[in-house]
Amino acid sequence: MPFRVTIDRDGCISCAACWTDCPEFFEENEEDGLSQVVEAYRTDESLAVGEAPDEMEDCVTEAADDCPVDVIDVVAE
Ligand code: SF4
Repeated sequence: MPFRVTIDRDGCISCAACWTDCPEFFEENEEDGLSQVVEAYRTDESLAVGEAPDEMEDCVTEAADDCPVDVIDVVAE
């Protein structure tokens, strides 16, 4: 079962935790410095929404847990 991952980019403080924990899925946007979904996993043509495959569950969940402002949402689809 894949996981839908959403980043509330407006609330991101660019702390780097998510792309350090899970660089396969999260990265820093080069223009605004905020977190975004790596292009290969984006859905909805949005920087902020993506679908993580099963094997990335631990990675995206750890990133969400470590986000200090709690702006990463991970939901099983
Ligand atoms: S962990 Fe949260 S605040 Fe830090 S860069 Fe990622 S989304 Fe932004």
